[in-house]
This record gives sequence, structure tokens and C-alpha cells, in this order.
Amino acid sequence: MNHFDVAIIGLGPAGSMAALLLESYGMKVLCIDREKEIYNLPRAVTVSDQGFRMCQLAGIDDIYLKNSTILGGAYFSNKNLEIIGGSIDLKGFVSANGWPASSLFHQPFTDRDIRNKLENSNVEIILEHEFISLNQNQESVSFKTINLRNQEEKEFTSRYLIGSDGGSSVVRKQLDIPQEDLNYNRDWVVIDVELNNPDKLGDKLIQVCDKERLATFVPSHLPFRRWEFIIHEHEDKESFLEDTIIHELISKWLKPEEYRIIRKAVYQFHSVIAKNFQKGNCFLVGDAAHQAPPFMGEGMMSGYRDAVNLSWKIATSIKNKLNANLIDTYEIERIPHSRFVVKNSAGIGELMEAYAEAETPEQVAQDLVQKGYGSFILPNLTKGLFFGGKADESMNAGEIFPQPVEFENKEIVRRMDHILGKGFSLISNYPFEISEDNHEFLDLLGCKLVTLEKKYIAENPWMKPLLEKDRTYLIRPDRYIFGSTNSNISIDMLINDLKMRIMN
Ligand SMILES: Cc1cc2nc3c(=O)[nH]c(=O)nc-3n(C[C@H](O)[C@H](O)[C@H](O)COP(=O)(O)OP(=O)(O)OC[C@H]3O[C@@H](n4cnc5c(N)ncnc54)[C@H](O)[C@@H]3O)c2cc1C
Repeated sequence: MNHFDVAIIGLGPAGSMAALLLESYGMKVLCIDREKEIYNLPRAVTVSDQGFRMCQLAGIDDIYLKNSTILGGAYFSNKNLEIIGGSIDLKGFVSANGWPASSLFHQPFTDRDIRNKLENSNVEIILEHEFISLNQNQESVSFKTINLRNQEEKEFTSRYLIGSDGGSSVVRKQLDIPQEDLNYNRDWVVIDVELNNPDKLGDKLIQVCDKERLATFVPSHLPFRRWEFIIHEHEDKESFLEDTIIHELISKWLKPEEYRIIRKAVYQFHSVIAKNFQKGNCFLVGDAAHQAPPFMGEGMMSGYRDAVNLSWKIATSIKNKLNANLIDTYEIERIPHSRFVVKNSAGIGELMEAYAEAETPEQVAQDLVQKGYGSFILPNLTKGLFFGGKADESMNAGEIFPQPVEFENKEIVRRMDHILGKGFSLISNYPFEISEDNHEFLDLLGCKLVTLEKKYIAENPWMKPLLEKDRTYLIRPDRYIFGSTNSNISIDMLINDLKMRIMN
């Protein structure tokens, strides 16, 4: 029987991200997927600034970069495609993460390259095998798979198991974890086309609030374009996959001879979240843990956040033989954040419906308008592995630390998260000292001590307000701030608090 540090069930985006990270932390990883090929129906198209930064951690930012285009903006329109609200212009906008707010990518290209990268890594991948059941005790998980080519059953064991097996997760069912339904369940048809002619559709995403049929236009990475149309309850879902119907739906934008339909699918857009993301040594990540309608383009991003949050905690626990305290912070941190994404993604759908129903956009209630683009930002983490166990604005605990970057002519020309390293880091604008004992502990964690050069502070509008306070920040491997020093809190107090939280 083969034993692994971590077994990953499901090699979609979330499982692949977890596999790459865990392998990079030196873990022995097994991945199981029931499919031979990568998924090829139309799904994710946008990757956020934080998404790109997480890809940097896993060494796949270049894959997204070469297959993506920056999104110009977004707005809500009436049926004639005239702006009625929530318009945002994203041109030239770069965030503290060092990347544009949103970029459009072609998923078959990125998934193929990510799979190639995994196949050339030390990760063991077994395809065309379906996960069927598991058992666990305090020390490990044993599980069974079935070979879909010859029906042979196989058994494996691992210290930890990650269920990244998508919306109908068998891992979640085996763990008997119920889901909470946040009440957005609508059928939509999703269509990807390849343009035959030069593009004339612009670079803005449009949420079309047409009472007859809500729609979304996505200006995907050229030469591709994406449309999504709601299907009403009385309508025949399958008919929406017929070319003649698709041509009619897209006729507001293009004539049939101007494009070729390349992918199409009918989905029920859900908003659900699992009650727990962990049971014993088993974890849920990605759509297995939460599903959001795609209006915010944050579903896969949430899955990436899960994978990033969990991977370093698993690796640190295994390497240092820690008890469960560190790993238990995974769901404490991830459930409230994922819930926000699921709820607010559905909120955009509700706002579209409200605009479509209203005679004039002004009639739409302000609390709904606040759900639109430009009105909210992703929240910080609230509770978990932070100084004192919770986020604290005065120390920036729970926030993401900005990426060190180099500017030329006000444009970012180099992104330098590598300065922070792959593990924890202590970062300041001045040389600092820590006690001998704490040095040993930080060495165990592979923590980098960084005095950031002045040029990276003065030119960086996000770094400047943090480091000009003459503070030292303790940053986690996922770039969240654990805490920072102030007149009452010394560096050693920060480190002692971290030690107490993960070693006791
Ligand atoms: C139309 C649409 C548009 C979207 N747009 C965006 C977007 O722009 N940005 C964004 O961030 N998100 C977007 N999303 C959401 C995003 O696509 C999903 O959140 C993401 O694909 C989920 O990834 P995952 O790895 O969790 O699951 P999946 O991609 O579903 O992968 C699950 C894997 O598990 C395997 N598997 C399942 N069961 C078993 C089993 N029993 N044994 C072995 N293997 C198994 C499957 O074969 C599959 O490979 C969109 C979704 C839709 C539907």
C-alpha cells in the first residue's frame, strides 16, 4: 500500500494549486482524478489581482500572463446595452498585490499548461481513477479508488486528504458534511465563441439587465468572446445548446458569419457553502466547499485561496510535527471569507434582476445598488492565526501585505514577492534584532528576515503607509499579516504569540 503526506482528490484548478504548492514545500503528494483530460466546458474566464499573486507562489503566473488580457472595466446596461449603473473603469489600475484588478484568460490554455507542469513535477498523478470511500483515524486517512478502465479497486493511505472534487464532491458526502443553500439557483447557458473578424466589441464586461432575458457579455482573451444568458423556468434547457438559438441570442452583438461557437454548456448557477471545511484529517477546498454564481468571477479565486491557505499549514505541521492548532485555523479563516464571496456573487445576480424590473435605474433600492461593481472590496480575514487570535486594524493583522515592486515611469516593471520568500517573513525598513530562542523557532519555520530597501518603500503607494510607521511586520507564507510591532508590542512578543499559537 502506498503512503503519502497528502492525497488530493480532484485535479481541477483548486486541486492543481494545492498540489503544486505542497510539492514546492517538499511534501509527498498523490493526485487522483476520474477524468483523463482536463475539463473543457466553458467555465472560469477572469483571474483577479490576488489570483495572479497566488499563482506567483505556485510558479504559474507566467502561464496566466501569456494567456490573458487585462479587463478594461464593467457596467450594468439596459437591453440596448446603454450604461445604467455600476460602471467601473479598470484601465491602468493596479492593486497592492502588484497586478491588475482583473484579467481575462482562456482556461483550456492555462489548464493544459498547469497540467503539464504538474506532470513534470514530483507529484504522483493517477488519472481515470474515481475516489469512492475513505476511513480515518487520528494519524492518517485510508481511501479507495476504482480504476475506470478495468474496474479494479485500489487502496492508499495519507497523513491528510484534500477533497477538491468539485460541486458534487464525493469526499464531502463521505465526510457527511451538509451544505447551506444561500438561495440563488438559476439555469444559465454559457457560450464561448472564437471571432472570425477583428474585434469590435470593446474591453468591458456588460451585465445586461434585460427583463426578457438577463445576459452577461465577457470580452475574453482574444480571439475568444463569452456570453451567458439566463434560461427561464418554463423553457427547454437543452434547446439553448442549439446553434440556431445561440445565433439568435448573440445577434444583438454579432452576425453568425462573424464567429464560430467553440464551447457551450447549460449550468445551474448555485450559491451553496459547506457547513465545515474540515473533518479530522480531511479538508474540502474549491467548489467542493463552496459554489458561487460566476458574476463576480471569484469562484475559482476562492478555491485558490483555500488551496493557498491550507497548503502551507499542512506542510508546516508535517515538517515540525505540530499538533492540530495550526491546521484547525484553515476553516476558521476560510469559511467567513468564502461565505462573503458566495453571498455577494449572488447579490450581483439580484441587482441585475432589480435593474431589469425597474422602470428607471433610480428606482432600484440603494442596498441592492451597493452590491454592484465598485461598491465593495473583498474583506480581510477576521479570526485565525493572527496576533491575539483575531484581525486587528491597528496592527494591520488580517490584511494582505503589499507585494514589493519596482516601478519605471509609474508602471510596475518587476514583482518581487521572492524577497518575502516562501515561508514566514519578518519585514521592516530598519535592521532589527530578535532573541536567540526566537531565532531558532523562526529557523524552524524557514522565516526570512528582511530589511526592505528604501526605494521599494518610497515608490510603492501601498508599502509606504505601512513601513513609514517604522514598524516590523510578521507576514505569513500566504502574505497575510500576522501582526506588527508598536510601542506596546515588540518583535519578540509577536514571535512568542505565534509560537504559543502553533506549538502548544
Ligand atoms: C460559467 C462559469 C463561469 C465561471 N467564471 C469564473 C471566473 O471567471 N473566475 C473564477 O474565479 N471562477 C469562475 N467560475 C468558477 C470556477 O469555474 C470554479 O469555481 C472552479 O472551476 C472550481 O474548481 P475546483 O478545482 O474546485 O473544481 P472542478 O474544476 O470542478 O474540479 C473537480 C475535479 O475533480 C474531479 N472529480 C470529481 N469527482 C471525483 C471523484 N469521485 N474521483 C476523482 N476525481 C473526481 C473532476 O474530474 C475534476 O477534475 C465560473 C464557473 C462557471 C460555471
